[in-house]
Amino acid sequence: MKPERVFDRSDITENTELACDVVVVGSGAGGATAAAEFAEAGYDVIVLEEGSYYGTKDFTPNASDMIRKMYRGGGATMAIGSPPVLYQEGSVVGGSTVLNGGMSWRTPEEILSRWGLEAEIDRISAKDMEPYFERVERRINVAYQDPESIGRDNQILKEGADAKGWKIIPNLRNQLHCPGSNNCAFGCPTGAKQSALVSYLPRALHYGACIYSNIRASQILRDGKRATGVLGHVTNPNGSPSHEVKVHAKLVIAACGSVHTPALLHRSGIKARSGLLGKNLSLHPNTKLVAIYDEAVRGWEGVHQAYQVREFHDQGFLFAAVNVPPSVIAMSSPYYGQELGELMDLYERTVVAGLMVEDTQMGHLKFLPGGHPQAFYNLSDFDAERLVRGSALLAELLFETGAKRIIPPFSGVGELTSVDELRKLYRSKIPKSSMEVLTVHLMGSACMGGDPSRSVTDMHGLVHDTVGLMVADASLFPTPVGVNPMETIQALTTRNVHHILQSPRQYQL
Ligand SMILES: Cc1cc2nc3c(=O)[nH]c(=O)nc-3n(C[C@H](O)[C@H](O)[C@H](O)COP(=O)(O)OP(=O)(O)OC[C@H]3O[C@@H](n4cnc5c(N)ncnc54)[C@H](O)[C@@H]3O)c2cc1C
Ligand code: SF4
Repeated sequence: MKPERVFDRSDITENTELACDVVVVGSGAGGATAAAEFAEAGYDVIVLEEGSYYGTKDFTPNASDMIRKMYRGGGATMAIGSPPVLYQEGSVVGGSTVLNGGMSWRTPEEILSRWGLEAEIDRISAKDMEPYFERVERRINVAYQDPESIGRDNQILKEGADAKGWKIIPNLRNQLHCPGSNNCAFGCPTGAKQSALVSYLPRALHYGACIYSNIRASQILRDGKRATGVLGHVTNPNGSPSHEVKVHAKLVIAACGSVHTPALLHRSGIKARSGLLGKNLSLHPNTKLVAIYDEAVRGWEGVHQAYQVREFHDQGFLFAAVNVPPSVIAMSSPYYGQELGELMDLYERTVVAGLMVEDTQMGHLKFLPGGHPQAFYNLSDFDAERLVRGSALLAELLFETGAKRIIPPFSGVGELTSVDELRKLYRSKIPKSSMEVLTVHLMGSACMGGDPSRSVTDMHGLVHDTVGLMVADASLFPTPVGVNPMETIQALTTRNVHHILQSPRQYQL
């Protein structure tokens, strides 16, 4: 059952007009935080969300069902380029936080300094951000895992890093006594993960906000430079539009994520004079290795990503153990027929370990007729080399702990069966087109900054050359953040909302 003041398509039976102080488009990391902060400060808030509402009891390990219901495009979204990058984002009440792994890290100090210096953002040092990080961490309960929730695949990662003498740290996650059911990517069935669905959104509802799910915002309404509201429509289950919904508001917040916020602004006729709307898109390229052991690892038991190997963080990459369902291994394996069957028989003995790179290349969005965004991204030579080197180092760690076979993420390279074979990775020039690259971190496509000629919003997320229009999501990042981005989005949003709350009259609120 939906909570009170959460509406869906069945509740809207005709064209509808609503009014509020603040309308927020998107209910993910940024949108939910903005909604809760404004509602708590006494403002009348409406959230519009394209996805459907699901509660904790709806989440199951049926991966394909969950992906179809809650991932944009059923999880089949891709940035075109060399290599193509499969990306995933949520389209559900609570946004990508409902599907994410729960890793909750503060923005690294050096990234904040860079944003201060290069993007000319004032009061964004680690010290300035401290109260916002603390506030977010209290709201979403950022904590270390209970030790009994850590499974064998993550212990193996730790043993390998320790044996190599590499720095490994326990992950901080937004969870409350997570028992380690390993279903994070398909919705947390215990409610332990403190996604926006069970933290910020209930808080916003408590303070009077309304959430309208199944509403796709098509345009921001404007009167000259001033944003006056949002025009959207109810979406039918097949995605087609039905009744129109118009929300009049004093402040409009675009929080649709890094792909869809620029598209919403573009459809609304907003052009950044910097030319950067939809540009500066970074995405932390990820890849994964599949390692087979003699022992029964049962990687699906225990929390996903209990640790992060930080030994190479200053070189721009991180490692983690990331159990994935058998269907995902099958889809990306180089085998078919009997060989694939044999590999899948070994699922119980498999460790999947991932590598995330802080990218140096920027992609961009193109807006197709009708304003639909398409992402383009070419991996730089430098980042491609880091993916190869990172994969080799990660394979070294896995062999150290007894892996017998490793399937690298490069087609044509073949399996690796010993450390000596890692030379194959270094020696052969692996073409980018043979690399399997994916991501769940998209950032930077409506970047904030102090100089309007080099940014899309000002240093508090307010869109340059407009009035009453704010961005509150990962689009704001001037550069890739280098760690899991959720907490940065939430802390930046808190900072920016509090800036407005200090002088609401200036913003006609
Ligand atoms: C599988 C997965 C695992 C991840 N793991 C981690 C992790 O462990 N730690 C971490 O820090 N980060 C992780 N992330 C990334 C993190 O969740 C995202 O960076 C973050 O949620 C992005 O926040 P956002 O506000 O920019 O957008 P989102 O949280 O994606 O929310 C955007 C919302 O806007 C809605 N929307 C879009 N367009 C419209 C429209 N026109 N009208 C109405 N609504 C619209 C979408 O449906 C969506 O619900 C993961 C992401 C995924 C997908
Ligand atoms: S591992 Fe923990 S946070 Fe993730 S789905 Fe299971 S109980 Fe929820």
